[in-house]
Amino acid sequence: MPANFKEFAFNRHLLPHPADYFAGEGVKLLGNGRWRDALCPFHKDTKPSLRVFFESGAFRCMACGAHGGDVLAFHMQRHGMWFVEAAKALGAWGAVR
Ligand SMILES: [Zn+2]
Repeated sequence: MPANFKEFAFNRHLLPHPADYFAGEGVKLLGNGRWRDALCPFHKDTKPSLRVFFESGAFRCMACGAHGGDVLAFHMQRHGMWFVEAAKALGAWGAVR
């Protein structure tokens, strides 16, 4: 293995905070609690049906059932990306020491 070989892998700690992530995606989070409401981008939403857990980015839509455990899952579903692609897009693909 060459000396400059670096292994890259998903690093959860590099994921953006849900507040920054959803703002960047143009998804406005409403409310102030641990769970926030938003218009769901996965269906034609007219009232905020999407519930977002503010600390982790976990989400669930009460209308269409879209759900996931973090901003990475959200990004994959919204943009049709696979895991590594989404991790790279979010800057959460880093060198393993
Ligand atoms: Zn929905």
